[in-house]
Amino acid sequence: MDYQKLADLLFPDVTETREDIERRFPPRSLPAGANVTRIGPSPTGFVHLGNLYNAIIAERVAHQSGGVFYLRIEDTDNKREVEGAVETVINAMAYFDVHFDEGATSTGDNGAYGPYRQRQRKEIYHVFAKWLVQNGKAYPCFLTEEELTAIREEQLANKEIVTGFFGKYAEVSRNLTLEDISARIAAGQPWVLRFRAEMNDKRFTITDAIRGKLDMPCNIMDFVLLKSDGIPTYHFAHVVDDHLMRSTHVVRGEEWLSTLSMHVELFDVFGWDKPIYCHTSTLQKIDGGSKRKLSKRKDPELALAFYQQEGICKEAIWEFLLTVLNSNFEEWRAANPDASYMEFPFSLEKMSTSGALFDMEKLNNIAKDVIGRMDAETVLSHLKNWCSEYNREFLALIEQYPDRTLKALGVGKQGAKPRKDFVNWKQTCEFLSFYFDETFKAQDDMPAEISEEDRKAFFAKYLASYAHEDDAEAWFAKVRQISDELGYAVKPKDYKKNPENYKGSIVHVTNMLRTALTGMANAPDIWEISHVLGEELTRARLGKWA
Ligand code: GLU
Repeated sequence: MDYQKLADLLFPDVTETREDIERRFPPRSLPAGANVTRIGPSPTGFVHLGNLYNAIIAERVAHQSGGVFYLRIEDTDNKREVEGAVETVINAMAYFDVHFDEGATSTGDNGAYGPYRQRQRKEIYHVFAKWLVQNGKAYPCFLTEEELTAIREEQLANKEIVTGFFGKYAEVSRNLTLEDISARIAAGQPWVLRFRAEMNDKRFTITDAIRGKLDMPCNIMDFVLLKSDGIPTYHFAHVVDDHLMRSTHVVRGEEWLSTLSMHVELFDVFGWDKPIYCHTSTLQKIDGGSKRKLSKRKDPELALAFYQQEGICKEAIWEFLLTVLNSNFEEWRAANPDASYMEFPFSLEKMSTSGALFDMEKLNNIAKDVIGRMDAETVLSHLKNWCSEYNREFLALIEQYPDRTLKALGVGKQGAKPRKDFVNWKQTCEFLSFYFDETFKAQDDMPAEISEEDRKAFFAKYLASYAHEDDAEAWFAKVRQISDELGYAVKPKDYKKNPENYKGSIVHVTNMLRTALTGMANAPDIWEISHVLGEELTRARLGKWA
């Protein structure tokens, strides 16, 4: 077979050589040790937590080393592509504070190694495809879907251990003559370009930065490089792009381990250095006592959109994922409570290979801590951002009462054990709703221990003696005094000891007061809340019960 003739027949329009392309993508001039990483999401419209998980790893590996982190859109599978999906990926990454140095953006491409959308790189892949054909490493295959299915069925019927397009199954296609191929092409028969595998029973070793040394059988499959529409498969596009874009590390899911041998063989055939592979574990959760993969159907928390809609704070997601990624993160956080998570020395070597466990409760606890550490101004700015997208009504309230909102966000922040009332922005809106008459809801009943008569008497006395400028101590002294006058134990332990001597305890009284003021028995400090609401609102709310 004259491979040059075959190459010209298959790719008559390709005039550039691989050297020409290499010149367009020169090695990057970066300091020694600077890593180049990327994420390569497919625009399916569904961005999942795994995308963010891998993005965080890749981002850290690049930016901690002073390198480059870029976004490549892997849109080679047009069956899966959904309108607007590229924007969805870009927006989701921006929402979670994942910043790229180059790559696809909502306004086009940014960077010298583009295009960063694979469908726009078709001509580039064809240059390398032609080179493979010229060198006897690739050939056209005209088998129809039906013929391929028949091969698969034969293999299954024969109970073959390895199934796929290899060995004797590839022979007919491999051995077509140039004349035969020309005739089929002239007749308009569709073809795919297949890789001509080495086909031996050797093994190879490779060191994965997360999994350590891997020892695997070499590839034997004549896998597809270009589909019948000329668009590359993931396998081919990955190798060409990560070479040309000069990725030093490829962070991707463990589902790619099974085809790693194909990628390795392709890199070797081209004579290119391989990137350092980092195969991450699939996210799992505990369900009914056992571990299982997160599923798109069963687990809403797999979709990144879920975190956006719930308003789960991005810092919390980062901290949570860093905890899952590096077991020493929590220790580091305890030792560095005020540091930004970006200062944590992330390391690929410390990643566990026994699976990544997702735990919503843990994420929520981290979120409470993270928000608890923020000052009120920071919380307000996050809240406004989220509300501007997901709760415009509440945004209008916040903007109508900016001082009150800021004060409300500062409640319970002083003291040795600051309150951790806020889990996510959606819940924060609900939590804050009692500060505004517009959203106030009487959620809890008044304590049953206090009669209507006592309740009225209490609020009448309370309002008569209320002085807004009282400090917390003076205020509480008055509450105690009124409780005492009405026959309620001032010390809860006295009531516990001799309940028959009292109508109730001060705890019932303060619960009543809190419920009147906030609509809830469980709320922050009454004195502090009154000072957020202001005298007028405080008196109006309590006056209803007097
Ligand atoms: N498009 C691939 C995926 O979505 C990317 C894998 C990679 O990062 O190489 O799984």
